[in-house]
Amino acid sequence: MPEPGVGVKLTPRHYAYLKISEGCNHRCTFCIIPSMRGDLVSRPVDEVLIEAEKLVRGGVKELLVISQDTSAYGVDLRYAERDWRGSPRRTQMTALCEALSELGAWVRLHYVYPYPHVDEVIELMADGRILPYLDIPLQHASPRILKLMKRPGAVDRTLQRVQAWRAACPDLTLRSTFIVGFPGETEAEFGELLDFIEAAQLDRVGCFAYSPVEGARANDLPDPVPEAVKHERLERFMAVQARISAARLRAKIGREIEVLVDEIDGDVAIARSAADAPEIDGIVQVADGAGLRPGQFARVRVTGASEHDLDAVRI
Ligand code: SF4
Repeated sequence: MPEPGVGVKLTPRHYAYLKISEGCNHRCTFCIIPSMRGDLVSRPVDEVLIEAEKLVRGGVKELLVISQDTSAYGVDLRYAERDWRGSPRRTQMTALCEALSELGAWVRLHYVYPYPHVDEVIELMADGRILPYLDIPLQHASPRILKLMKRPGAVDRTLQRVQAWRAACPDLTLRSTFIVGFPGETEAEFGELLDFIEAAQLDRVGCFAYSPVEGARANDLPDPVPEAVKHERLERFMAVQARISAARLRAKIGREIEVLVDEIDGDVAIARSAADAPEIDGIVQVADGAGLRPGQFARVRVTGASEHDLDAVRI
């Protein structure tokens, strides 16, 4: 996935990407990132925190934590302890999140895998210390296809985990990405994926038809799915998810939420809530937002919803 480099801030002033590691220890068969960038190399926690502090001092209101596998952060450094603000901090995902939560900015986690220790960051989300938002690329739901993909994580327990997270943190927004038409995917296995997204009721979902990447091991797998079938499955998947997403957004009508304003367009403020990562999720259009300014937080009441976005007014 393309990511801005460390220290290069190409985004508006009020949000910034915080890259915590490079490379990846997994070997998913459709991906060539490990062969291009090598194994996981984490940045020591104090380095990351010093950068985050500078960003917040410079006006950043939202930190987007990125990596190839955020849940693996620090494993290569054996979770080394470093001093920050006079106390020892571990180079580890939960410890990083705890420290980031002291900075007073929104903290949003991307590319987290469903390992058991993710439960610890759900607690921080439930306590309001970091945003209740988890971007968790699952890619498929059929155990056989996930095995062919060589995906990390205990896939068979993902649904229970999602349900437990929602019970612990009812406001949790879950984003994921999936691939349909992976080599060998049968209609029944695609059906397992549809059943999973119906059951999991994810909030935000990206889906791609499988396309071979030069150098990826998945290219050698037998039984490629014909293009027409891939695209037909993609459309069916997106239709189911659009219905789920629209219903989940409709359920927010009438609620009061906090938003961060990205830009002003005439009388309307284009903003985002905790449920909306910039550039990939939806927006909240605040109808009477002319008095707001980019980078400002505001309380709004949700008045309407579409497939991806919300309408709101100021409270
Ligand atoms: S987890 Fe898999 S898909 Fe993600 S970067 Fe690592 S090898 Fe690639």
